[in-house]
Amino acid sequence: MLVGCPAEIKPQEYRVGLTPAAAQELVRAGQEVLVQTGAGAGSGFEDAQYMQAGATLAETAAEVFARADMIVKVKEPQAVERKQLRAGQVLFTYLHLAPDPEQTRDLLDSGVTAIAYETVTDRAGGLPLLAPMSEVAGRLAPQMGAWTLQKANGGRGVLMGGVPGVGPANVVVIGGGVVGTHAARIAAGMGADVTVLDLSLPRLRYLDDMFSQHFRTGYASAARTAELVAQADMVIGAVLVPGAAAPKLLSRAQLADMKPGAVLVDVAIDQGGCFETSRATTHADPIYVVDGIMHYCVANMPGAVARTSTIALGNATMPFMLALANKGWRQACADDPHLLAGLNTHAGHLTYGAVGKALGLDV
Ligand code: NAD
Repeated sequence: MLVGCPAEIKPQEYRVGLTPAAAQELVRAGQEVLVQTGAGAGSGFEDAQYMQAGATLAETAAEVFARADMIVKVKEPQAVERKQLRAGQVLFTYLHLAPDPEQTRDLLDSGVTAIAYETVTDRAGGLPLLAPMSEVAGRLAPQMGAWTLQKANGGRGVLMGGVPGVGPANVVVIGGGVVGTHAARIAAGMGADVTVLDLSLPRLRYLDDMFSQHFRTGYASAARTAELVAQADMVIGAVLVPGAAAPKLLSRAQLADMKPGAVLVDVAIDQGGCFETSRATTHADPIYVVDGIMHYCVANMPGAVARTSTIALGNATMPFMLALANKGWRQACADDPHLLAGLNTHAGHLTYGAVGKALGLDV
């Protein structure tokens, strides 16, 4: 099979669908790999590394789309890319079709077999191709929050770890899933005083078992959340209600109870945000102030650390990509129900229930 990797064209997207290491694995398995010139540059991978891995370079994205049996990407195909997809071709990438009728229509019209990273599942009921990006965003959240806390950026001027004789920053993480756990670990590692709030008692038990020496846990009742937020230097929003917009856990009125210059980092902004005053920002202009409280609400946080994110995503996609390339999509999906869960469109048919429900289309 010829596996093709075009450069990403969505604005501010520096990741790439295929690392040189993944290209090498495919070549070792007897597959052919075609990578667009410069595709890896944003993640620090040079063309020469892909060639050393045994890949061939293509001058244009058009050549990759025209020749490849399977296209591997990061972001959903943009309109100009969708026009180049065809029946019999496999597309393996993030799609997020539910809120995107235009893309869904184009994929159905093209006849492409589209397998979405975000709906591939694992045995534990998790989403293995979303988890690496949650890990990145979680670990990045205290780092960006610490920067925002600095006086010159508008924050309270509090150092995460304090110094001898001066206490550390007080950090509250709301939501103790993948993002929240990684955020809490890093914040605690920076020396902050950290509390993680969740509504799931099994999750709180797990966190307490694993990390009680590093941070505290608390039940996320409205009263307890309000009490802790009022004392916090930094609040990290990391909740997820599957299939729904993020619940609003902090009202604008509650900002008045917070310390001036305290920081809200709303990682859940890609699901609408969990603070009433959150609105999506970009890496170019990441922070803003409401009623004296700093807000950091970047919707694609992993893009800030494109190299780490690309490698983390590549590690997770590699086994699935190898299965698709080595067996063909039909056999690979027949052998693995978790990969089959990723199938969103095939030959003009929508094959994913939740997308059909969201868009009112037959599945
Ligand atoms: P997850 O499912 O692993 O964890 C979510 C946690 O939130 C669960 O433990 C759940 O019990 C808890 N929760 C739900 N409602 C709650 C409430 N009202 N109060 C307290 N806890 C509550 O999800 P995740 O992978 O950690 O993702 C968290 C959020 O981060 C999602 O919205 C995800 O889309 C987002 N995310 C954003 C970026 C970004 O770049 N901004 C990157 C990755 C993930």
